[in-house]
Amino acid sequence: MQRKFTCIICPNGCEITAEYDTAAGSVAIHSIEGQTCPRGEEYVKQELTDPRRTIASSVLVRGGELPLASVRLTAPIPKAKIFDAMREIRKLAVDAPVVAGTVLIENLLGLGTDLVVTKSVGLR
Ligand code: SF4
Repeated sequence: MQRKFTCIICPNGCEITAEYDTAAGSVAIHSIEGQTCPRGEEYVKQELTDPRRTIASSVLVRGGELPLASVRLTAPIPKAKIFDAMREIRKLAVDAPVVAGTVLIENLLGLGTDLVVTKSVGLR
């Protein structure tokens, strides 16, 4: 089968076409064309075999000048785990003040990524 990708690794946005087959849960890649550097090939291989995404979201802040603090993961996680990760993030509520860089969850769901605050929120 064939699948087209727009590489998101750099602003060039190369259009890349992959030919591959799937069998018994594994992917056999036959060709990757259209990338103009090796990073594009790596990106497509990752997308076909183990697609990952990062999360940028927000958590509730009690007693803060703002009701929410923005957060993000320090590393992308398997796409299939995004909903589980969001469920954990939605459970959180923190007390102001919240300082950017604070780790709110270490090793989220054992996935090797931390949830960190990206914007400080002071006291109300
Ligand atoms: S293939 Fe290389 S040059 Fe093209 S968008 Fe991806 S990283 Fe950029």
